[in-house]
Amino acid sequence: MIKRPKGTLDILPEDVAKWRFVQDKFRDICRRFDYKEIRTPVFEYTELFQRGVGDTTDVVQKEMYTFSDKGDRSITLRPEGTAGAARAFLEDGIYAKSPINKLYYDITCYRHEKPQAGRLREFHQLGIEAYGAKGPGIDAEIISLAALFLKELSVKNITININSIGCPVCRKAYNEKLREYLSAYKDELCETCLGRLEKNPLRVLDCKSPICGKIGEGAPRLIDYICDECSNHFEGVKSSLTDLGIEYNIDPSIVRGLDYYTKTVFEIKANSAIGAQNTVCGGGRYDGLVEIIGGDPTPGIGFAMGIERLLMVMEEENAPLPEENGPDIFIAHMGEAAEKEAFKIAHELRAKGISVSSELLGRSVKAQMKYADKIGAEYSVVLGDNEIETGKANVKNMKTGEQTELALSGLSEFLLK
Ligand code: ATP
Ligand code: MG
Repeated sequence: MIKRPKGTLDILPEDVAKWRFVQDKFRDICRRFDYKEIRTPVFEYTELFQRGVGDTTDVVQKEMYTFSDKGDRSITLRPEGTAGAARAFLEDGIYAKSPINKLYYDITCYRHEKPQAGRLREFHQLGIEAYGAKGPGIDAEIISLAALFLKELSVKNITININSIGCPVCRKAYNEKLREYLSAYKDELCETCLGRLEKNPLRVLDCKSPICGKIGEGAPRLIDYICDECSNHFEGVKSSLTDLGIEYNIDPSIVRGLDYYTKTVFEIKANSAIGAQNTVCGGGRYDGLVEIIGGDPTPGIGFAMGIERLLMVMEEENAPLPEENGPDIFIAHMGEAAEKEAFKIAHELRAKGISVSSELLGRSVKAQMKYADKIGAEYSVVLGDNEIETGKANVKNMKTGEQTELALSGLSEFLLK
């Protein structure tokens, strides 16, 4: 038997209602905040991620699914959504249509990671990106969007952690301090981080290796080195969040794993811990990204949430999640004439928007009724020679057992009510 690739999941029919509940809720929240959906390709030219996400990041250095296509071009399955959205923002001239563009997406992502609970190789992200606004208002808006979304999913036990990682100007001074600090640990840093020391020391601070993590804990904190502009911006974000009644913590250890971030960064953790995979949302400002991929300097900010982790947390917290519904009615039948009539009625009802299942396996009426119960049909009706002759049948409410005698021609009206 051929198995699914390691780190992938099949989402089974009985679970799809839960997924759709989360995805529909996100869509509705985005509508309320006036964000518009964008859909971009699952694969992009590798260079987009090397430049956009940054070639010293874990994602680019270790986690990408990269291959050469038949034309010998290097292609990568998207490890995240921001770079593709930014490319479309430029390539499709979205930037020229409006001074502000607020986008959202619901996508699959691909990262070659060690699979475990909440860490997959194919996973799903809900994300938003807002281009054009440089003031702190939009930072607070997207954090409030994430908070409202989680609230309406009944995820209660969360912590919103925010930080500022400054701009390239303040980071330059900081990088020197950090390099100085890290140099003392040259013998202990992992090989990847040793390479990062010169090119991008900040990346050492989100290395997953426990030793690098420990070393990072004692490092100088970027927030202590940010310039006046970045500091004012951060104050603005904090006071806007307070105005909106959103509780947050300041966590100077957040640096985020992608190079494009500037100023505000944030993570939302679920406290009903699922181990190291308790970060359900990560995001921040990326004022440099559009320029990095070839456009004019454009402020931008966004976040992404992993749907698998969200669902794990919701189940952990016993948040209400819908089950897949059965059909409105199951039409059982016995005999050739009744079978023909059942299919005809089923077709008419479906055309009127009613969901109908009818017997397709030629089972006994008893077995058909057992099946109707099992699939959770709301009503059932049995058609036999008698019902065809009189044009009437008993419609049974499967929950209460109550039977109602009806003309078959009145079935749709009854069910629609
Ligand atoms: P982590 O530190 O857990 O590896 P990350 O910083 O790499 O997360 P981001 O790039 O910020 O994650 O992605 C945003 C969100 O996408 C995460 O908060 C998480 O919910 C989800 N996510 C990231 N990687 C995976 C994965 N491999 N499997 C499932 N969900 C993931
Ligand atoms: Mg990661």
